[in-house]
Amino acid sequence: MTIWPTEVRRDHEARLLRVRWHDGHESDYEYDVLRGYCPCAMCQGHNAGPLRYQPPPRPVTAQTVSQVGNYALGIAWSDGHWTGIYRFDLLRRLCPCDECRTARSEAGERRVGKDG
Ligand SMILES: [Zn+2]
Ligand SMILES: [Zn+2]
Repeated sequence: MTIWPTEVRRDHEARLLRVRWHDGHESDYEYDVLRGYCPCAMCQGHNAGPLRYQPPPRPVTAQTVSQVGNYALGIAWSDGHWTGIYRFDLLRRLCPCDECRTARSEAGERRVGKDG
């Protein structure tokens, strides 16, 4: 399944990146959490394991958010780090809402694979 955002905006007051997806789903990502999951090689190293979470030592804000090709968002953080390319499918998997959290834990328990 391919997913893409129809709207991406920064809420500086709440310190959230708000994404609305093509299927109507909405995700609010805390800046610090998103920064902690930065998928770039510098943050993740070269092992291909699951994404590591490394919270930033100090709070960060997303200074610029730009679309990369038709598959990802590039985010430049206030700590000067800008090499993180967040693929849409990764972002969606990081969605912190209750619905997605529940879906993830159920998938993890039952491992039901379904195509489409
Ligand atoms: Zn990084
Ligand atoms: Zn969600």
